[in-house]
Amino acid sequence: MNKFIFVSGGVCSSLGKGVAASSLGALLEGRGLNVRMVKCDPYINIDAGTMNPYQHGEVYVTDDGAETDLDLGNYARFTSGPLSRANSITTGQVYESVIRKERQGRYLGRCVQVIPHITGEIKERILRIAGEDAEADVVIVEIGGTVGDIESIPFLEAARQLIHEQGKTNALSVHLTLIPSVAGGELKTKPTQHSVKAMQEQGIQPDILICRAPVMLDEPTRRKIALFTNVESGAVFTSYDVETTIYEIPLIFYEQKLDQVVLQKMGVESRHADLKAWYAMMDRFKARTAAVRIGIVGKYLDLHDSYKSIYEALFHAGLENSAAVELIKIDSARLEEADRAEDILGPSGLGSGVDGVLVPGGFGERGINGMVAAAAWARTSNIPYFGICLGMQVMVIDWGRHVLGWEDADSTEFNAGTAHPVISLLEEQAAVKDYGGTMRLGTGETVAEPGSHIFRAYGEGPILERHRHRYEFSNQYRREMQESGLRLTAFTPGGGLVECVEWPEHPWGLGAQFHPEFKSKPTAASPLFRDFIAAARDRASAGL
Ligand code: GLN
Repeated sequence: MNKFIFVSGGVCSSLGKGVAASSLGALLEGRGLNVRMVKCDPYINIDAGTMNPYQHGEVYVTDDGAETDLDLGNYARFTSGPLSRANSITTGQVYESVIRKERQGRYLGRCVQVIPHITGEIKERILRIAGEDAEADVVIVEIGGTVGDIESIPFLEAARQLIHEQGKTNALSVHLTLIPSVAGGELKTKPTQHSVKAMQEQGIQPDILICRAPVMLDEPTRRKIALFTNVESGAVFTSYDVETTIYEIPLIFYEQKLDQVVLQKMGVESRHADLKAWYAMMDRFKARTAAVRIGIVGKYLDLHDSYKSIYEALFHAGLENSAAVELIKIDSARLEEADRAEDILGPSGLGSGVDGVLVPGGFGERGINGMVAAAAWARTSNIPYFGICLGMQVMVIDWGRHVLGWEDADSTEFNAGTAHPVISLLEEQAAVKDYGGTMRLGTGETVAEPGSHIFRAYGEGPILERHRHRYEFSNQYRREMQESGLRLTAFTPGGGLVECVEWPEHPWGLGAQFHPEFKSKPTAASPLFRDFIAAARDRASAGL
C-alpha cells in the first residue's frame, strides 16, 4: 500500500504545521500503519546546515549525517519511521540535481523548465521514499511555507500532479489554516476561505482542513467553513490552543476522529487505535510533582527554536522524573560581563538559583568565556551540569584553565595560537574548505567505561548518538587531564576520540561530544537528559 498525504498551510506561518503533520503521523502509527514523513523546504540552501540558528532555528541532524530543518525533529519525536537525508527536500537540492542532469545532457536537448523538470524532480524524490521502502504504507509530505508564497509554487504543483496521478483515494490534501478571533472573541472564518481559494487556484481541492483556533470550533462554524470551501463539515478539524503540551495534540485530533476520516477517505481498513503510550505520557505529565530550574547558558536564546530539541529533551526528561522543568535562559555574554556566575546563577540571581546548568552546542567565540564561567561555577558549587558538544569542550577548557592552571587553555576554534590547545581541530577536518555538510556528522558508536555516569545512563547496550562538530578533545592532553582527576569516560570504538568527560567527586557533571537531544522522545526520554534532570531534582528536593 502506498498512500500520500500532502500537508500545506495557509493564512500565516508558524501555525504548527509540523506538529499537525507529525500528530497525524502518530495517529496513523497508532492504527498500525508504517508512516514515513517528508519535509519540502522552499529555500534555495541545499540544507539547513549553513543557516544561522537565529534565522532558522536549530539544525536537526539525522543518523546519516544530513543537516536538516527542525521539523524533522518533530517527526522524530512524534513518529518512529526512519529519517535520513532523503526525508528533507529543498529547492536548492532539486535545482542542483536538475542542473547537474542538464550538464550531463540527460534532458536530450530539451529546454529545461520548472514544469515538467523541477516538478518532476520533486515528484521523483517523493515517490522514491515510498518506492525504496517496501514497508512504507503512508508518506506524509509537509510542504513548507504558506500557500501564496512564490517559493512554494513548484512543490504545490508537484503535489497537484501527484494527487491527480495517484487518484483520489491514494493521495489526500490536508490544509492547515488560522481562525483568528477579533474583539469580543468572535471567530473569523474569512482568512480560511481565502486560503482554500488560494489552494484551489493551485489546482488542489483540500480534502481535510485543520483550523488553528483559540478554542474548539462549534458545529455551525464548521458548517460555514464547509459551505465556502467544498470540504465536508465532518472533515473540518480544530487544532485549538493547548495549555498542556504539544504532545497532547495527537489525542486532541483523535478525539475529533481525524484518523478515522483520513482512513475512510483513503479507503484503508485498520486495527483499532492503540494510543496507550500517548495516554501514559499525558498521565505522567499531569502527575508531575517536583519543579526543577535549569539554567541554559548559551547564545541563541531569543529564538526558542534555536535549541528546540534540547528544550524538548529536557521536558521529556522531566516527565520521567515527575518533574516540571523550568527553563532559565541565560545569555552567556552576561556571565562574561558580571564575571561572577554566582551572582546570576546562584540563589540571589535569576530564577532564585538554578538546580542544574546546561551548556548546549554552538559555534564561534562570542560568549565562550561566560560558558566557561558557568561550568567552573557548577563544578565548584556541586551543581549538576550537562555539556553538549560545545558544552563538553567548555568543560575541558575550564579544567585546563582552572584546575591545571593554564590560563590560555582554549579551543583552537577560538584561539588558534594558544600554547594549550586542549580542544583542537579533528584531523580529518584539516583540509576541509567548504562549510556545507563537511563537519563530523551523523551517528557514530560510543563506548563507555563501566562505573561512569554515562555507562549507568545507557546500560549495557551500544551507545549510538549523532555528531556535528569540527573540534575535539586534544589527545595530547589525555594524560595530564586524567592525572589531574578529569574522568574520560567514553570513547569512539578503539579509543581514538574522547566522547565524554565527567567531573570527579561531583553529583553529576558530564559533557558529551555528541548530541543526545536528537533522539529523545516524549514517550522515551534520552538517558543522559533523564539522569541529568534526576540529579537536578535531587538537588532541588534536598533544598540546597
Ligand atoms: N564549535 C564546536 C565544534 O565545531 C562545537 C560544535 C557544536 O557544539 N555542535 O567542534
